Amino acid sequence: MAASNGDPGTKVICPQGFRFGATAAGIRESGAPGRRDLAAVVSEVPCAAAGVFTVNRMRAAPVEYAAGRLPAMGIRAIVANSGNANAITGPRGAVDERAVAAAAAAALKLAPDEVLTASTGAIGSPLPVERMRAAMPALASSLATEPLPAAEAIRTTDLRTKMAARTIELDGKPVQIVAICKGSGMIHPEMATMLCFIATDASVSPGVLQATLIGAVEDSFNAITVDGDMSTNDCVIALANGRSGARPIEGSGAELERFAAALRGICLDLARAIAADGEGASKLLVVDVEGTRDHALARDLARAVAGGSLVKSGIFGGDPSWGRILAALGARIGARDLDLDLSRLTLDIQGVRVYENGGPVAFDREGLSELMLTSEIAVRLDLQGGADKARALGCDLTYDYVKINAEYYSSPKGAAARPAIDREAVVETLSYIQRFAGKRAVIKYGGAAMIDPALKRSFAQEVVLLQSAGLRPIVVHGGGPEITRTLERLGQKTEFADGQRVTGAEDVRVVEMVLTGKVNTEIVGLLNTVGGRAIGLSGKDGRLLMAHKLAPEPGKPDLGFVGEIEAVSSDVIDMVLDRGYIPVISPVGMGKDGVSYNINADVAAAEIAVATGASRLIFLTDVAGILDKDGKLITSLKGADLESGLGGAIRGGMHVKAQAVMSALAGGVQAVHVVDGRAPYSIVAELFTDRGVGTLVT
Ligand code: ADP
Ligand code: MG
Repeated sequence: MAASNGDPGTKVICPQGFRFGATAAGIRESGAPGRRDLAAVVSEVPCAAAGVFTVNRMRAAPVEYAAGRLPAMGIRAIVANSGNANAITGPRGAVDERAVAAAAAAALKLAPDEVLTASTGAIGSPLPVERMRAAMPALASSLATEPLPAAEAIRTTDLRTKMAARTIELDGKPVQIVAICKGSGMIHPEMATMLCFIATDASVSPGVLQATLIGAVEDSFNAITVDGDMSTNDCVIALANGRSGARPIEGSGAELERFAAALRGICLDLARAIAADGEGASKLLVVDVEGTRDHALARDLARAVAGGSLVKSGIFGGDPSWGRILAALGARIGARDLDLDLSRLTLDIQGVRVYENGGPVAFDREGLSELMLTSEIAVRLDLQGGADKARALGCDLTYDYVKINAEYYSSPKGAAARPAIDREAVVETLSYIQRFAGKRAVIKYGGAAMIDPALKRSFAQEVVLLQSAGLRPIVVHGGGPEITRTLERLGQKTEFADGQRVTGAEDVRVVEMVLTGKVNTEIVGLLNTVGGRAIGLSGKDGRLLMAHKLAPEPGKPDLGFVGEIEAVSSDVIDMVLDRGYIPVISPVGMGKDGVSYNINADVAAAEIAVATGASRLIFLTDVAGILDKDGKLITSLKGADLESGLGGAIRGGMHVKAQAVMSALAGGVQAVHVVDGRAPYSIVAELFTDRGVGTLVT
């Protein structure tokens, strides 16, 4: 089963005999105190270890050490820190690296040569070894089967935490592979690095693991370019401890292939996540070069195109600048003095042919521009001169890239470095604040924003900011993946019909337990830790959501204990709002006889918006907004347009949402927004700017 972070189905099973840990060692000179910056991956038995490392000649001390050791047998732990790269620190770099390994070994009761280290962060200043040594006991006692804290601790400028996992069957036994990763691009050598640590309970020799890892890295991490610069600290290290009990994987055969495919899949998931999370990036850029006689050549050309600054800024602007793409290709071919026939070259952007047989072809520029208003851009070049092809993953170049990197070590100095203030934008924001003062807004919270730790935090900050801007937020949440996971753990299967969950009599108890007991209290806790004042409510509190069983529609499946709202009693919400609190509502309905019903969160949010007189309803979901049948974002539309289902474009979970949007509008809600919960701060970007970022329905 595939899983990566951000996928609501994420299910990371810790490989047998591995533990992950994280703690705060105060490695950064400045920055948030208490932020975790030291991580560990530890095996209870010696592992086969393999690694792939940067070829940068100025590589960091931990990379030098690990590259000199691997592949090898007998590694038990990797200890990694963020905040300091231990790179270009002179001869003391190597001494400090072993001092950290020794300190970790002492706390973990291992020998120092069983410990590898890795570092990422600022370059050129010595590691704060004493602070790290002092944190080792806490690191050792934090060890647990959950890899997430370790994945968080190795982040630097990453906006998202990156993990991937696979379960495969080898020798009739389940074998787990889990990877944690950080990387926000290969930016300027000082400023970014990718680290990836893979732990598996497969049994495999160091040599076979090394060969498999090289293959997996080749078309994944080695295909990423954010600006083409190579870091001093890049490393991918794999540990295999054999605790699954499956017999050792041979150097060839079906078992090796299955293992290699899983490893490749993990690396590819993470490579895409790194490219999409490139510093300041707003779009993933996928460049395919086809029709060459040589794979390495295709990859080099793809990377050259994906790395072109003008190409990248054009992609940011949504500009189908085919000339820049071809110029970047031509420049690389010329610089390498390659003798290639370009007379049959074709170029497609987002599937639209813009260049063919050595010349431009007419295309709908506006239409293509609109197709580029999405989070992933596909560029395909075909030289039609062979059967080989390769892909490079990159990202766009945005204003924010410069901002992040200009301010990495210190605030920009001097007038030239100081970005101009967009005075109109400030006025625009303030005028929205004035317009929203005292108004109520219902926010349906769901999807990736409920799973990814960074997105969870930015969501909470955003809601608290909305409140301080005078708006009165009401949060209604779903419970999706958590409910499915708990039902699975209890051995109950979840059925879906038309994007809605089928809820059995047993299930409804679990639903209530998870929604109200777990998800709700977690959201309240999060809002309150970022300075908000939130109160959790279930639909049963104060008879907030009175419901009865939803009668199945003719020809449609019976959804079981799914309720239909009869009445919303807004008293309790009014009370909470009037006292200055943020109500956080779990969509559990109460039947007359006290029976609980599972209420679809989209429907609950819409009804609550109507009953409380909210002027806005916002759906946070895992798509850019409402998409048309070509998958293109619709930036605004009228409620009536949804009635027709947009010519078949509305399907699955969006169907329920569209119904909810229409009933909210019919009930007097002024405007409904559908925004992308996969990117941070989408709600404020949508509400407080003229252009918005998602779909506005009025
Ligand atoms: P949520 O957790 O936000 O309720 P759902 O999965 O229930 O998410 O509903 C949103 C999903 O609906 C989207 O992720 C997408 O896969 C699907 N969908 C179907 N049609 C459309 C459409 N026209 N526009 C956007 N999303 C759509
Ligand atoms: Mg849904």
